[in-house]
Amino acid sequence: MDDIKYVITLQCHIVKERCSGYLCEEAFHLRQGGFAHYPKEADIRFLSITCGGCCGRASLRKLSNALKLLKKRAGIEADQVALHFSSCICRESFHGPKCPHYDYLKELVSRKNVKCFEGSRISNTTQSRLDENGHWSKE
Ligand code: SF4
Ligand code: SF4
Repeated sequence: MDDIKYVITLQCHIVKERCSGYLCEEAFHLRQGGFAHYPKEADIRFLSITCGGCCGRASLRKLSNALKLLKKRAGIEADQVALHFSSCICRESFHGPKCPHYDYLKELVSRKNVKCFEGSRISNTTQSRLDENGHWSKE
């Protein structure tokens, strides 16, 4: 992970109508959940974007824009960027089921030379209910 200089978290546009995304940023700051593999002392910048709404097509446009600016303004290349699908996209969570367009989103971002990872913030409540019931809601 030494070569990663920038993390972009792609978040669900619908979920973010209610969620600020703070807990994703905090999980990154504390190197928890889907970000646990980054060294704490590493100087890595963080950006969160949303998919733009179903079907998620705007993800590619936003990612392309970020990569263009990163190269131009910070000298950071696409292969130094990690794209994390937020937990509310790639897995069932307190906010609901996983994204029905997840495969499409993965195909879109695969057109760019970024490293992709699943998961961002993972709450203890969601994890324990998933472990217990196979879904997040109480039985
Ligand atoms: S993973 Fe959680 S904190 Fe991050 S955007 Fe989704 S709902 Fe918000
Ligand atoms: S495409 Fe998926 S991630 Fe985007 S708003 Fe729709 S459900 Fe959420």
